[in-house]
This record gives sequence, C-alpha cells and structure tokens, in this order.
Amino acid sequence: MEIDAAREVRTTCPYCGVGCGVLAKVAANGQVSVRGDPDHPANFGRLCSKGSALAETIDLDGRLLHPQIHDRPAGWNEALDLVASTFRHTIAEHGPDAVAFYVSGQLLTEDYYLANKLMKGFIGSANIDTNSRLCMASSVAGHCRAFGSDTVPGIYEDLELADLIVLVGSNLAWCHPVLYQRIAAAREKRPEMKIVLVDPRRTMTSDIADMHLAIAPDGDVALFTGLLAWLGQHNALDRAYITAHTAGFGQALFAASTLDLAGVAAATGLSEDELSRFYSLFARTEKAVTVYSQGVNQSSQGTDKVNAIINCHLATGRIGKAGAGPFSVTGQPNAMGGREVGGMANMLAAHMEIENPGHRERVQRFWKAPAIAGEPGLKAVEMFKAVADGRIKALWIMATNPVDSMPDAGAVEASIKACPFVVVSDVLAETDTVRHAHVRLPATAWGEKDGTVTNSERRISRQRPFLAAPGEARPDWWIIAEVARRMGFGEAFAHKSPAGIFAEHAALSGFENDGERDFDISAYAAIDVEDYEGLAPFHWPAPSPGTPLWPAGRPEGGAQAQLQSEGGAQAGTRPEGATSIERQPTRFFADGNFYTPDRKARFIALRPTVETRITAAFPLVLNTGRIRDHWHTMTRTGKSPRLSQHIAEPFVEIHPEDAQRHGIGDADIARVSTPRGEVLVRVLVTTRQRPGSLFAPMHWTDQFAARGRLDTLTASLADPVSGQPALKHVAARIEKF
Ligand code: SF4
Repeated sequence: MEIDAAREVRTTCPYCGVGCGVLAKVAANGQVSVRGDPDHPANFGRLCSKGSALAETIDLDGRLLHPQIHDRPAGWNEALDLVASTFRHTIAEHGPDAVAFYVSGQLLTEDYYLANKLMKGFIGSANIDTNSRLCMASSVAGHCRAFGSDTVPGIYEDLELADLIVLVGSNLAWCHPVLYQRIAAAREKRPEMKIVLVDPRRTMTSDIADMHLAIAPDGDVALFTGLLAWLGQHNALDRAYITAHTAGFGQALFAASTLDLAGVAAATGLSEDELSRFYSLFARTEKAVTVYSQGVNQSSQGTDKVNAIINCHLATGRIGKAGAGPFSVTGQPNAMGGREVGGMANMLAAHMEIENPGHRERVQRFWKAPAIAGEPGLKAVEMFKAVADGRIKALWIMATNPVDSMPDAGAVEASIKACPFVVVSDVLAETDTVRHAHVRLPATAWGEKDGTVTNSERRISRQRPFLAAPGEARPDWWIIAEVARRMGFGEAFAHKSPAGIFAEHAALSGFENDGERDFDISAYAAIDVEDYEGLAPFHWPAPSPGTPLWPAGRPEGGAQAQLQSEGGAQAGTRPEGATSIERQPTRFFADGNFYTPDRKARFIALRPTVETRITAAFPLVLNTGRIRDHWHTMTRTGKSPRLSQHIAEPFVEIHPEDAQRHGIGDADIARVSTPRGEVLVRVLVTTRQRPGSLFAPMHWTDQFAARGRLDTLTASLADPVSGQPALKHVAARIEKF
C-alpha cells in the first residue's frame, strides 16, 4: 500500500496480547512518533512503557535487508528457488513429514494463514508449530476440553464490571500493563471491588491485591479443586445451571471431595485460614472473573489447571455474563490470530479439528488442496527433537528466535546446527537463530507490515504500515506465497494483498458453518482492499452475512468492486454501500450453549498431584518470566536505552533465608545451574520471593549479557495434553561466583 507520511496511521502494538491501538506518525525529518489511540477499545489511548517506546526500536541497525544464501548476498529469485526446490526434493525423497515450519505469534494473521495452508493442505503434513506453544497452548487445550471449542468467553469490560478478580499466575502489572491500568482505574471508581493474586511471588501486581496467596509451584490444581469441593460443601453451587448446561459434574465433585482443606493446604503451601478466606470470598461474589496467564499455562499440569479454574466457574454458572467468567490472557500480540487460522500442529484452520475427518475434508475442499494433513504434527518441543534426531531434514523458522527462547535452548541450538537445511525469515541479520540459517530471508518489521492481529478478548485489529519496506525486505505472506508458487501451488497462492488473504480466511470461517463452530467472521468474506484498509477493530463472532454489519452512508469514493476470490477460495457477498464499523462486543456462552455435541460444557474430574522436582543436588525451584520493559529475547526492546534503564542486566531473585543458606549477598554475581546448563546473573535478595525458589527473567541472550541465556537452563518437560513446556518449575541450584 502507499504510505502517507504526513498523516497519523492507526495501527496496533506488536508486543503483548492486550492489543493496544497505536497512532504512528512520521515527521518531515523522518522522525517517528507514537501515541495511544484514544479510539481503540482495548486501551482508549493508554500505552505502557514498551508501547510508548516503539519509535525508539525501529531503526535499521542490524536489519536483514537482502536475501542471503550461506552468508553471501543473493537475489530473491535465487533464494526462493533454493528454498522451494530443497523443500520439494526433501518431500519427494523422505515424505512430507520430513519438513517443518516453526512460526510465531509475531506473525500477522494473513502470514499465519498462508503458512498453515501451505503446510497442511499442499505439503500435506501438520508439522507447523509456533512459539505460541510456549505461551497459551494449555489454555487452548483446557477450553477445548470444557467448551468443545477454543473460546475465550469474556471481554475486557468484564474486568471492570467484576466485583472479584482472581489473578492466577499473572503479573498483569508488568506483562499486560494496560489491562492492569484498566483494572486499577475501575477499582478506584469502585473501591469495593476485590482482587486476589495467586502467585508464588509477590510481584508488582500485588500492589493492587487485597489478598496475595503465595502458592507453592504447581499448587493451582489443588487450590481450585479444593474450591470446587468448598462450593459443594457450602451450598454455593448453581444447581440449575449445572443441570441445564453441563455434564460430568458428579465425577468432578467426587474427585474434588477426596481432598480436604488440610490436604489442599499441604499441596498449596497456604494456610487453612488463607484458603477459607479466599474460598468464602469467591463463593459469595457472583460477579467473579478468574484471569490466568503463563503461571497456569507454562506447566506440566497446565491444561488441568485451566480446567480446575473453569470447573469452578461452571459450578457457579459464572460464565458468559457481564463481569463473570474464566479469562485467559495471551502473551503475544497475535497468539489468538494464530489459533484462528490453525497455526498450531494439532489444529486446523478456522477452529476446525485436525482429528475430525469431516473437518479435514471440508478444509481440503475449500482450499482445493491436493492433500490434507491426516493427523496432528509435531508440537514445538517434539519438533526440535525430531530435528535433532534427523527426522526433520528441512526447517523454516519465521519471526522467532528458538535458539534463545525454547526450553533446553542449548539442545535446540545443536539440533538447528545439525539440520541439513534451515531457512529463517526475520527482520534482523544477527539473532542467535539467524546465524545458523542456510538461507536468510529479509522480512518486513512492525511499522512496515500490513495485516491483522487478534488480541486476548477476540478483537481483530489492523496493523498498518507507516514506513516503506527497507532494502529488499518483503512481507511474510509474500515470501510464503512465492515459495508455494515455486513448489507448484501457484493457483492457490495467487494472493495479491493481505486483504485478499483476510477475505479468504473469513470465507473459510463461515464455510459450511451453521453455528457448529465458534469462530465465524464470514461477514467479512467479501471485504475489498479499501474496506480492509479502513477496517475498524471488531470482535468475533461477527454477525452472519446479511445482517447490518455495514450501515448505509458509506463515504464517497469507496471501492465498489467486489473482491475477486484470490487463491481459488470461495468468498461471501458484501452488502451494497458497505463500510466497516465497530460493533458491540459479544460474550460467548451467554445462552449456556457450548460447542460440544450435546451443547453442554464438560466438567473435568481432577485429582491433584504434587510433583517434587527438586533433588539434593538441585534443591531450589527456578521460576522464569518477564520484566516490565523488555520483550522476549530483546531483539526489539534491546534497541531502546530507555527501556534498559528500568532493569539493566539479568538477575535472579532469592529469599533472604535461602541467600543466607547459600552464602550469597545482595548484588553478588551468582551461578545458577540446572542439569542442562548454567548462567551468571546479579543477585537480588528479596522477601517477594517464596523461600525455596528463585526467579529469573527470560529476556537476556549472549548478545546482551555474557552467559546470561536463561533458557539453556529450562527443561523440555511438557504438559501431556497441550505440549506446553513447564518453564516455571525447574530444579536448580545457586552459588556465589
Ligand atoms: Fe503494547 Fe501490551 Fe503495552 Fe499495550 S499493554 S502498549 S499491547 S505492550
């Protein structure tokens, strides 16, 4: 699209799942400025420190500006031909499961859609997984088990309407700051609102909490299973709701009843008094929202934790109502968009299921695809193991840095180094992953990219370019389509714009979907380039085609041409004189109908297990996470000196008793080690930390701090249902360096 440098462009922040609207402007001297978009319904003009420093992170230092093959510059044609021919020959010789894509929640939905289409429908394998596996796969699995669909029932407004917010494993103040600000503002207006923080650490979020439950690592299943039992014992169930809208309650309550309060106290490390106070507060507060994030998801019991929480909301009928419901907040800007297009190894596009033969046939027919993946592919951890043992022979990594961010990162690096053919599409020339690529493909960055993202409340917003693509950088969707074309799939990848891809994605969401699936934005299936350009943030589900999505009175000069179906897909019909508008946000399950065959939600019977990972050699539990002002492996936030002022170096938090026991003082340098590796970090002695545990942030890599690469310590142990790695519970030891 043409860039008009003189006007402010409405776009969205590329960091967390809050999905804040940003207004970006380029001055005559080329200086970029950003401010919060006052009209965006996620943030109403607010931005956090990371969002407000975006302009400081978009210089061209270190950018990958031209394709490279084996460290030498190459033309696009040569690079794309090599990628396509190597993938083609590998598939011909070893089968489709010998290749894989590892993609990212940083991709826009249109990029994600095409990558998924190429792998699942045209290559015929499901070996496409994403760094979102590290972020919210357990929430997806928990939603699917309970609801029959991966649906986040609530909307952000519920956090302002609730009388009780329970934050579980979520340092919202640092990791979703604008959502935290919204809650803080609501609480100021209604001081009677209560907030409970469930977290082993006393994080900054505890500043707003009435009660902090410093739970033992992975004590969450016991905590919420105990709550279910308490609700049953104290006549706090919504029996009518349970009977009308759920199944499996009896078994779930029976399983929960095997644990008494003393048992819950032992499993959670909380006192019976703390438990009783929390349980009775939840029992008596009708408008309760439980917000959960990585402390729940990044666990070997992540899916069970999600279902333990959902069980309590189903048992009280507190779901699909204003100010009530379970609420998963995603870490990444487009983790939800990736879910919508089936960008994970165990999903199909448009919330269809890869293990459902009818869904597979439907997607294949819609795509007019020569093949369709017959079974789930390799999830992230398994994928890199398959690279290591030679089953994956050609790997394409897009917009992510697994050499630093995957658990057991040293082993992941070794696997990538040993892989016969590695392609990396990225914006930077020198990440720890890019340096191992045989082919490097320069992608466009935030400020240049054009597409959509979906935030944690199912709101789809545009990311719009305000800078021209530098050098030979190209959009990810273009790169994928060009490789597909060279592999012989040109007709299905003839897309000319992200608008066309979005329209196809929207059409697929409504294809033979008579209310059977939650995700349906088919009202946008005929969107044209101009309407796509003006698309206002909207919530799914969008209304059915034919309902007044677009009111009369479309501005003069609007495009009238119906979008041609690109890529051979089927598209819907746009009403005459249409334009896009923001609609009233929708809660799911307000009618008590779920997406299971009998339309009833499922309770999951859970019996908490206590896992002890610590040993005499590794006697402490290491918990990993984020800090306020950095993002992932710092490839973007590391460019802003302002963002490094908050915390300038990697650190480890330790309780004073543990520090004394290990002969460590505040500000010492310590060696933290696990069976997989060691890092050197600054010590911060603090009572915020639970005795027996350590906390260290995930961000620093060798580029920013010598021997500070934290994920060389973490283990590849994963949740058996979701495949999400347990990044928050690793046995470790600490010693003074
Ligand atoms: Fe960006 Fe999240 Fe901050 Fe909003 S809260 S400005 S989306 S990092």
